Amino acid sequence: REATLAIIKPDGLLGNYTETIKATIAHSGFKISREKVVQLDEEGAASFYAEHSTKKFFHGLIKYMTSGPVLVMVLEKENAISHWRSLIGPTDGRKAKITHPDSIRAICGTDVEKNCVHGSDSPQSSEREISFFFDIPSGS
Ligand code: ATP
Repeated sequence: REATLAIIKPDGLLGNYTETIKATIAHSGFKISREKVVQLDEEGAASFYAEHSTKKFFHGLIKYMTSGPVLVMVLEKENAISHWRSLIGPTDGRKAKITHPDSIRAICGTDVEKNCVHGSDSPQSSEREISFFFDIPSGS
């Protein structure tokens, strides 16, 4: 079975979308093997999104991701990475409402930045992202 990292971002948690999103996760056959609520600090968010550090939207993204707690989950099933990416829909929540009205971002996303959820985009990212949140030795 494959594992992917899913995040309910601050707008998703604040907007009370957790139950709806978790219902979709359960109906779609995923097992949530690990989960925790985390308040990212700037350093943590910048490290998680390091690949975007040169983008114009980086500063806004870090501000958004540190604006409140996030719920981080490891989802497991066959083809978990691509299945979760297809359930969340396109990056831009506003466009998702038009092109993928049943997607999670169509339901709780606002725009290209505030898109309420995250999903790993490859086996390499999934491995990196899961260890980012879950394999950090205690006390660090
Ligand atoms: P994620 O990696 O969070 O699942 P994604 O793969 O759809 O999303 P990326 O291109 O990796 O999108 O961008 C990471 C995050 O940065 C997006 O989820 C979104 O919150 C933000 N973002 C992406 N593009 C823009 C943009 N043009 N303007 C503002 N924020 C953006």
